[in-house]
Amino acid sequence: MAGPLPLRFLRSYADPDLLPHVNAELALMGRSNVGKSSLINALAQHKGLAKTSKTPGATRLLNAFEVGNEDSGRWLMDLPGYGYAKVSKTEQAKWAEMLNAYVEERENLVAVLLLIDGEIGPTPLDLQTVEWLEHLGRPIIYVATKADKVRPSKSQKRRAELTAKLGVERKDVRWVSADKGQGIPELRALVLETLGVK
Ligand code: GDP
Repeated sequence: MAGPLPLRFLRSYADPDLLPHVNAELALMGRSNVGKSSLINALAQHKGLAKTSKTPGATRLLNAFEVGNEDSGRWLMDLPGYGYAKVSKTEQAKWAEMLNAYVEERENLVAVLLLIDGEIGPTPLDLQTVEWLEHLGRPIIYVATKADKVRPSKSQKRRAELTAKLGVERKDVRWVSADKGQGIPELRALVLETLGVK
């Protein structure tokens, strides 16, 4: 099982056109509050790495992390959370445009880790995102967050519902808990394997 992920924050980008060439990249995506920052911190076992309490509506940036050795050229890209209701329509449209440009054009984007709240299940916006990623031909790795919030007695039913809504098989969804560590070593191993980090 993989230990803490060697993850270094590089910098933030406001414009996908300014991104340099990399060997392989994985993007992390999910609605705001899905537990994305907590997951990054858990993967790296580094509490302050991704900020968990962000200012709502703050500037939306692409946050680049390098995985493995320095200059490995294997990146994890933290994309801004979608669906934050209090952001203006104009702001949302701008962000959607930026995200679209990124997912459509980013070369060597090997897959998108799509985070779904395990307690809530896929929202209509999550399902829309799935459709859009499929349309663009990007492979999706499904990660259900906050697994610790689902009671063990409800777990089987909840997993069946979540996979049915996504239209995938149970084995295609990784359940994780950033708080309790469940599924974290397995996800670290998957990230390393997907990016081809030795
Ligand atoms: P982000 O907006 O997607 O970056 O979400 P955050 O990482 O900031 O988490 C949103 C909220 O969910 C915070 O209150 C976290 O403490 C909580 N949270 C995140 N991951 C977990 C988890 O694995 N278990 C539980 N119980 N709460 C979590």
